[in-house]
Amino acid sequence: MKYTNNIFTVENCSLKKVVQKFETPIFCYSQKRIKENIKKFKESFKSFSPIICFSTKSNSNLEILKEIKNNGLGADVVSKGELMIALKAGVNPKKIVFSGVGKTKSELLYAIDKNILLINCESRSEILVVEAIARSKKKKVDIGIRLNPNTDAKTLKQISTGKKENKFGINEKIFIEVSKYIKNSKFLNLKCLSVHIGSQILDHKPYQKMLNVLDKLIKKMDFKFEYIDLGGGMGIDYNKDNKKFDFKKYNQIINKFLKKNKAKIIFEPGRSIIGDSGILISKIIYIKESSKKDFVIMDAAMNDFMRPALYGAEHRIIPLKKTKKMTHKSYDFVGPICETTDKFLTTNKFQKLNENDYIIICDVGAYGSSLSSNYNIRPKPAEILIKGSKINVIKKRQKLEDLI
Ligand SMILES: *Cc1c(COP(=O)(O)O)cnc(C)c1O
Repeated sequence: MKYTNNIFTVENCSLKKVVQKFETPIFCYSQKRIKENIKKFKESFKSFSPIICFSTKSNSNLEILKEIKNNGLGADVVSKGELMIALKAGVNPKKIVFSGVGKTKSELLYAIDKNILLINCESRSEILVVEAIARSKKKKVDIGIRLNPNTDAKTLKQISTGKKENKFGINEKIFIEVSKYIKNSKFLNLKCLSVHIGSQILDHKPYQKMLNVLDKLIKKMDFKFEYIDLGGGMGIDYNKDNKKFDFKKYNQIINKFLKKNKAKIIFEPGRSIIGDSGILISKIIYIKESSKKDFVIMDAAMNDFMRPALYGAEHRIIPLKKTKKMTHKSYDFVGPICETTDKFLTTNKFQKLNENDYIIICDVGAYGSSLSSNYNIRPKPAEILIKGSKINVIKKRQKLEDLI
């Protein structure tokens, strides 16, 4: 993705062509970038060839999931809907793990019928429900238990999941208790110890701490897990300030861990696979002047892309067509929705913008379209996947008729 003759291009496709052909806002993905990210991820950990289960909640577009499956990945799902779409994309059930604190009986029944790799249980009560279903089906079901390692991921507090005050996982004491129970169960197979401490993690140290906790617990339990599921969470460089996650370091510390604890590693990456492969193209409806700044009112809003409103996340905004004219007036990039948090970014310096210009919100591939909603009865945007110079529509823009 780069500027060619001052026009932003994705692979061999000028976005000028895209906005001539399609309405905005529109999500646009690069197939090549997805492939590169997967290749890089696999190479980073090739010394122990992990099972890589793509986090379906980060992007649940069927065609994107097919791309990811075609590159050899499995899926991490957190609802029956996600499990259904992963299976529809052709993901091998033996490469699917099911996480989540509130799986219902009907969701668990479905997952058990589909013989997926693992159900990662997050409470004593859930384990009992899985056991009851397994008993009724006279089946032995493979499960993991998600540990809450009480590790601070040092990321945005809204996307931190591994501290004891977070709802996720089971604490060490109860973990040991339920493990004993499972070992004596005729209907449950304890196969996996799973963790996921949060998202957009840029420092390897929280992972080091997490692995130390696992190491101690395994020693204490004197039990051999077939799988250790380390979750996802590897961050990406949203601000282009070169704060990159150090995959090499993470690989090293896992290798050290594996020397003491032999097991098959599972990862559940979302953002690091799909985050920087997607952009959101938007058109400027109005520019409204105010005393200190100008409001750039776009046709994309928080319902289309929620991370800034939901987490205060910052995503770079760049023009579709670069010009030389700069302004030093602050711009507030906002959407049309009746909420003050419907704002994407404030800039101090930007090229001078005009009404009807197009702009691009960067790195929206993860938790972009999958988090979109119909707030204000706004139809969800179309999604396109670019392959070389070909544009594939992978989701049609919703019609108002569908909503009313
Ligand atoms: C969200 C989530 C992931 C993916 O996290 P990323 O930061 O996108 O890699 C993995 N595992 C679980 C259990 C999750 O909830």
